[in-house]
Amino acid sequence: MPRIEIALSQIEHNTRVLCQRYGSQGISLMGVSKATLGDPAIARAMVQGGVQFIADSRIENIQRMKIAGVKTQFVLLRSALGQAEQTVLNADISLNTEWETIAKLSHYGVMHNRIHQIIVMVEMGDLREGLLPRDLPNLIQSVIALPNLKLVGLGCNLACYGGVKPDALKMQEFSELTIAIETEFNLKLSIISGGNSANYEWFEAAERLGEVGRINNLRLGESILLGREAANREIIPGLYTQAFQLMAEVIESKDKPSMPYGDRCQDSFGNSPVFENRGDRQRVIVALGKQDTLVAGLGVETGFEILGSSSDHVILDHGMAGLARCAIGSAVRFDLDYGSLLAAMTSPFVQKKFVS
Ligand SMILES: *Cc1c(COP(=O)(O)O)cnc(C)c1O
Repeated sequence: MPRIEIALSQIEHNTRVLCQRYGSQGISLMGVSKATLGDPAIARAMVQGGVQFIADSRIENIQRMKIAGVKTQFVLLRSALGQAEQTVLNADISLNTEWETIAKLSHYGVMHNRIHQIIVMVEMGDLREGLLPRDLPNLIQSVIALPNLKLVGLGCNLACYGGVKPDALKMQEFSELTIAIETEFNLKLSIISGGNSANYEWFEAAERLGEVGRINNLRLGESILLGREAANREIIPGLYTQAFQLMAEVIESKDKPSMPYGDRCQDSFGNSPVFENRGDRQRVIVALGKQDTLVAGLGVETGFEILGSSSDHVILDHGMAGLARCAIGSAVRFDLDYGSLLAAMTSPFVQKKFVS
């Protein structure tokens, strides 16, 4: 410990339910693996569950999955000029916004005799990646002339940086933009990727009305892995929300006062924390810290409350003093949000264990 317990069957189940649900409206899914450090077993569970693509933001993660023998189409979510050659060699498709990078992908496509596919990302207001719609026609015109490169689609991404909702209006604008581009350049684009796990609310309404427009793909990480949509963090009916559980070992368990005593200064992270006096309490320390995960995104099992953390300790309240102590060496279980999962899966200190 610490270790993260991963129920692959639950991830596969979530993927299957989402593939059926979105698939009923003609929407294919990319399973997004970046929060799992491109774990091959998790990618395989997503492929088993029915995704047609595995998408990751890191080329290193895609390489890891390919070496492990995961068979699917790989999509690189974040392109970089400096990784253009690796991208052509390892990814089938990449998401792009910059001419220089796209031209380099074509260059390496020619050099390695491969056809690289690209999806061009459009800015719809969230202000992370994407071209402004007015700049799109110029880029498309140049891109379709490049050798060994195939423009296969358009994409947009909302609710990531600016917290802008992928609502019906945004999706309609994106659909219309797609149709305008297809008409102007006499193209038929095969992947119109309307967003991520935050698109669920839009989809629910669009599903009822049978009006998904030209959107025929979504890129889902959080919904598959944690069973939640990402606009309000609501649970998606029928999905598992605890496919990942973080276990940490109890290393201290004592009755202590709840108020620090002595002259006060800053804590080790430059904060001046405030405390509530609850009298003497049973306090538990687990061997887990900011080095291992994003502690603010953890939820602890019933009977405990997270009081705070430092680099290597999480301090828990375990009820009134004088009652039965929590045993040294026992495990405390935590739920993770997307940020905690991302950090825990990336930590070399957190062991990964598959459970049935
Ligand atoms: C991470 C990422 C996703 C997946 O987002 P979730 O909210 O986990 O579904 C989709 N698209 C892009 C471009 C991403 O970087």
